Amino acid sequence: MSDEPELVIAGAGIAGLALAAGLTHARAPWRYRLLDERPALGSTGGAISLWPAALDALDRVGVGAAVRAAGHAVGPGSVRTRAGRVIRSLDLPLLAVRRGVLVEILHAAVVPGSVGFGCRVTGYRCTGTGVRVETTGGPIDAAALVGADGFRSLVARTLHPGLAEAYAGFPAWRGLTTAPGVEPVQLWGRRQELGVVPLGADLAYWFATVREPEGGTAADELAHVVRAFRGWPDPVTRVLAATDPATVSRNDVLDREWLRHWTDGPVVVVGDAAHPMRPHLGQGGGQALVDVALLADLLARGDVPAAAFAAFERARRRPTRRVVRASRAASLLVDAPGAVHRLSALVPDRVVLRALRG
Ligand SMILES: Cc1cc2nc3c(=O)[nH]c(=O)nc-3n(C[C@H](O)[C@H](O)[C@H](O)COP(=O)(O)OP(=O)(O)OC[C@H]3O[C@@H](n4cnc5c(N)ncnc54)[C@H](O)[C@@H]3O)c2cc1C
Repeated sequence: MSDEPELVIAGAGIAGLALAAGLTHARAPWRYRLLDERPALGSTGGAISLWPAALDALDRVGVGAAVRAAGHAVGPGSVRTRAGRVIRSLDLPLLAVRRGVLVEILHAAVVPGSVGFGCRVTGYRCTGTGVRVETTGGPIDAAALVGADGFRSLVARTLHPGLAEAYAGFPAWRGLTTAPGVEPVQLWGRRQELGVVPLGADLAYWFATVREPEGGTAADELAHVVRAFRGWPDPVTRVLAATDPATVSRNDVLDREWLRHWTDGPVVVVGDAAHPMRPHLGQGGGQALVDVALLADLLARGDVPAAAFAAFERARRRPTRRVVRASRAASLLVDAPGAVHRLSALVPDRVVLRALRG
């Protein structure tokens, strides 16, 4: 058995897997073990758009070429009013990729057998030499713990007991559809929006938000979305009509209090566990990738975990807070009256792109 120190990574989502891939790629002097409460590798939410900083981070963890080969360059698109009038045209430097494919590429880049599925992290305690991680499979004594365990992060809630969260006022729906030749478009209506992003010649994904009470579920979520967007201009009707209902997911969007600190000695949080954000700018996954590319570099240098984690927090707190705020501002813009939507056309493209790039 290797005498390298062991890192436990709670969560094998985008952030956890990419961190492990990055450690392997950088030949970092660490053994790692990922634990995920899910029974198997998987991902909901159809597809994801990645901005250039996210692609750069994927290059740094060693899988950029594979993701580019599997994804689709998005290209020119538009933001439109509910009547279909163009508010803004933009050439989007985005790569769209199916989430399941991204997760499989990341999983193929980690040490075989290093992911323990069906294992939930239930707590941790710092010890003189590292951290004791409590799990449903028993305790693990490790040198360090990374919480890549998403919005509801047990690690973040242990760092900051009583961490508050509140319903943002809308669920987000996502789905996969067949839409030959569709162009990227985002349509803004009265407190609701629908965006379509091509994933290839025929395939596309869409996302939608509608103001409605928390905790709702419809027997048929697709029919619910179709009703909410009845009468909207092309391509909304044909995109929804061609959607496979099995690919439609619904999540209530929640805001979480800003985490007071991300580290506690040999413990750190990354990705949504550290800085969840509203989904409107499509930045959460990309920021998680930027986090872990940096963290893998710092750990590969051989610094002690507490020093690497503190340097990580210093570097990433301010930029991620900016993106969290920009995502909220984008959400408030969707909620604004139509006149404000139209006035937003006065903001120069370069300012919008700078905000969108994160
Ligand atoms: C509608 C919508 C659209 C979005 N679109 C985009 C987009 O286009 N581009 C983009 O970059 N981002 C997008 N995002 C954001 C993106 O999905 C998230 O930021 C990203 O998934 C965060 O990754 P993560 O690995 O930090 O967390 P997660 O993906 O939440 O992964 C956390 C993992 O931890 C596991 N876990 C949780 N608790 C425990 C525990 N106690 N023990 C063990 N395992 C645990 C979970 O099972 C999960 O596998 C979107 C989000 C939404 C809601």
